[in-house]
Amino acid sequence: MIKIRSAEILSVGTELLLGDIVNTDAAFISRRLAALGINQYHQGVVGDNPERLAEALEISLSRSDLVIMTGGLGPTYDDLTKETAARLMGRSMYLHEESLERMIERMSKRGIEITENNKKQAYMPEGSVVFKNDYGTAPGLAMEDSEKGKIIILLPGPPRECEPMFAEQVEPYLKKFSDHILLSKTVNIFGMGESKVETVLRDLMLDSKNPTVAPYAKDGEVQLRVTAAGSDESECAALCDEAIEKIRATEVGKFIYGIDAGSLEEALVTELIHRGMTVAAAESCTGGYVAKRITNVSGASSVLDGSIITYANRIKEKFVGVSHETLEAHGAVSPETAIEMARGVRALFDADVGISTTGIAGPTGGTPDKPVGRVYVGVSCKGYEEVRELNLGAMATREYIRYVSASNAIDLARRALLK
Ligand code: ATP
Ligand code: MG
Repeated sequence: MIKIRSAEILSVGTELLLGDIVNTDAAFISRRLAALGINQYHQGVVGDNPERLAEALEISLSRSDLVIMTGGLGPTYDDLTKETAARLMGRSMYLHEESLERMIERMSKRGIEITENNKKQAYMPEGSVVFKNDYGTAPGLAMEDSEKGKIIILLPGPPRECEPMFAEQVEPYLKKFSDHILLSKTVNIFGMGESKVETVLRDLMLDSKNPTVAPYAKDGEVQLRVTAAGSDESECAALCDEAIEKIRATEVGKFIYGIDAGSLEEALVTELIHRGMTVAAAESCTGGYVAKRITNVSGASSVLDGSIITYANRIKEKFVGVSHETLEAHGAVSPETAIEMARGVRALFDADVGISTTGIAGPTGGTPDKPVGRVYVGVSCKGYEEVRELNLGAMATREYIRYVSASNAIDLARRALLK
């Protein structure tokens, strides 16, 4: 039995080298390999050239037990992945009747006649495991070399073929080479920075071998991936839960907004649905970002009343009732304005919860008093109001400031519900 100690992805395509397309196949497969517990130490891209392809594949095979290649399985002259790999493995090609039949059937349904070129896609290296393609014409395949303990997997390049074929056929195939399963849970954290999370959890992370705990930061959030290995799902889940309880007991605990929660906006929508409540937003510096993110979540229609972009002071006064005096005395970027916006939009839309954003997204417009990155987000609901001051820094990009401001408004709303 071949033992897969490490895998690598070798993507084939000159258009990848030119930057014409982004290697989403490799990103997808990498994520899935990690979830399967298969280590990946290298990754490569090579153009559509048989010599360099053979060379790259040889290098990959010399250091990895499993090489997954994507692209170049199509019918045209530049599609030569299969032929090159077969030659390297010393396999001759034969016509795989079943693949040919599937191809003829698929193409005749579309009124396309099969050409000699197409037939090429039905030829397989001797002794390969064939992965049928329900999403296109070129089948994928695996070649095993038990003597050397190596496996090569070939998948078509188009993501709408590559991704489902990997999930539906390659994963079950790969699981046969493993004696354990892995399960991951993601702890979603907002409001504490990555380095602080790492400092607090350092010992816990170093100590834990099963499950492992690994942090990663993205767009102002931190996620901890807790991954357990075990003989079945319930054993793994129990191991993960035990570790998550330990994390909850630390300082990090109060910043956790969910386990496998997806996103802040998903957590907010879930909480609102649970309580049968609605939210409305008055947005200045986020320019609709809050509403955009809430409406990303399916089911948002039952909890989002609406959002209004009150960018100009005149509009803040006219539509959400910010008083002229407040704007004169404190300016648009102030806690006073933020709270009046939240209060005003809650009344305007007759919502249970009103949220607001107002700030300086930069890069221009900052003053010593109110620097770029200063943002106020507000929330107003029955019996509770709060304003949060953010100082996201003059070095942050406009996009980052707007995104993180929206995150804070969404987080503030969810926390207000819990209070
Ligand atoms: P086809 O039958 O479509 O020719 P193929 O297996 O030969 O499939 P390629 O010719 O290498 O694949 O690529 C076809 C298209 O698939 C590319 O133009 C690109 O749009 C997409 N593609 C290829 N490789 C990747 C990749 N690694 N990541 C994302 N998209 C890719
Ligand atoms: Mg092609």
